[in-house]
Amino acid sequence: MKKMSLTTKIIAALILGAVVGLILNLVAPNVFDVLNTYVFVPVGQIFLSLISMLVVPLVFFSIVLGTAGLGDPKKLGRIGVKTVGYFLITTCIAIIIGLSLAAIVQPGAAGEFDTAGAEFTAEEAPPVSETLMNIIPKNPINAMAEGNMLQLIVFAVFIGLALTALGDKTKGIFSLVEQGNEIMMYLVGIVMKFAPYGTFGLIATAIGTQGWDAILAMGSYMLVVLAALFIHGVVTYGGTVAFLAKKSPIWFFKKFAPAMGVAFSTSSSNATLPVSMEVAQDELKVPEPISSFVQPLGATINMDGTAIMQGVATMFIAQAYGLDLTMGELATVVLTAVLASIGTAGVPGVGLIMLAMVLGSVGLPVEGIGLIIGIDRLLDMTRTAVNITGDAACALFVGESEKNKTIKQQRAQA
Ligand code: ASP
Repeated sequence: MKKMSLTTKIIAALILGAVVGLILNLVAPNVFDVLNTYVFVPVGQIFLSLISMLVVPLVFFSIVLGTAGLGDPKKLGRIGVKTVGYFLITTCIAIIIGLSLAAIVQPGAAGEFDTAGAEFTAEEAPPVSETLMNIIPKNPINAMAEGNMLQLIVFAVFIGLALTALGDKTKGIFSLVEQGNEIMMYLVGIVMKFAPYGTFGLIATAIGTQGWDAILAMGSYMLVVLAALFIHGVVTYGGTVAFLAKKSPIWFFKKFAPAMGVAFSTSSSNATLPVSMEVAQDELKVPEPISSFVQPLGATINMDGTAIMQGVATMFIAQAYGLDLTMGELATVVLTAVLASIGTAGVPGVGLIMLAMVLGSVGLPVEGIGLIIGIDRLLDMTRTAVNITGDAACALFVGESEKNKTIKQQRAQA
C-alpha cells in the first residue's frame, strides 16, 4: 500500500473528526459526551501541549539565529520594514473585503436576531498602546515564562544583534543556539507524527460540542465570513505568491496545507508556529533567517483572518441593531480593526474579545458580540488558518525579494 503523506493524513483526520463529531452530536449525544471526555479531549490536548511546549524555545532560538544570520542591522531594518508594511497593507485589504461583502450580502438583515436578549460583558482587553509600549521586556525570563511573544521577539533580536557584533568571541553561544534550534526542529518533526490523531481529537470536540441550531441561525453570517476568508486567501495571498514571489499559488497552498490543517484544528497561530515554520523552511524553501524572523512576528501581530471576522461582525451587528455606519465611521472601523488584530494574541478566541474595541470605537453595542459568540469557535478555526497563511506568504515574498543566503553559507564565508 502506498504510504500516505502527512498532508493527506491530516486532511483525512480533519474530515473524519468532523464527521464523527457531527454524527455523534446528532444521533448519540451521550456516547459523544463519554468519548469526548475520555478520548477526543485528552488526545487533542496532548497534541496541543506537545506543540505548545516547543513554541517559546523555538521562537527564541530561531529569532536569535535569524537576526544573526541576516548579518548587518541595515538588512534587518529593510526586512523589518518590508514585513511590517506587508502585514499592514494586507490587513487593511482583509478588513475592506470583510466590510464590503457584509455590506453587499447584509447578513444582519437576513432574519430576526434577539438583540434585546443578547448579552456580552466585554473583558478588559489590554489597550494596544500598552502592548506596544511594553514591547521591551523588563525581565526576559518573565517574558518567556508568560509566553509574551512580542517581548520574547525583541529580546531575541537584541541577542542576535549582539552575536553578530561580537563575532568570533561568541562562537560558542552561537553554536549552542544553532544546536538548540536543530533540536527544536527535530522535535517538531517527531510531534507532527502525532498530528493526525491530535487534529482528529480537536476537531471532533469542536464540531461535536457546537449547537446546530445556533449554526443554522447564524448561517448567513458564517457564510459571509467564510467567503471573505476564501477571497482574501485566493486573491491576496495567491496574488502575493504569483506576482511578488513569482511562484505558483497552487504549489504554495498544496505545500502549506499541513500547517493550515494544524491551525484549523488548534485555532492558535502561536501553537501552529513550529509547524508553519518547518513547512515554510523545508517545503517552501524560505531561507531560515527570513522564516525565523517573519513568521513568529506574523503569528503575533498579523491576523488578516481575525480582521476579516471583525469587519464582517461589525457590519452584522450594525445591521442586526438597525444602525447605519457613515463613511467616516467605516474608516474608523478599518483603523481600529487593524489595531485590534495587531493586539490579538495568537490563541483561541481572542479576536472576539478584541472586537469589543472595534465596536466601541464607533459606538455600536458591545452586547452584539453575544449574537455571534456561540458559533465563533468554528470561524476561529478557519480564520486562524488564514492568519498563518498570511505570515507564510509574506515570508516567501520577503525571502524571494532578498534571495538570502542561509546562515550556514554566511558563516562559511566568514
Ligand atoms: N485564534 C486566532 C489566532 O490564533 C486569533 C483570533 O482571531 O482569535 O490566530
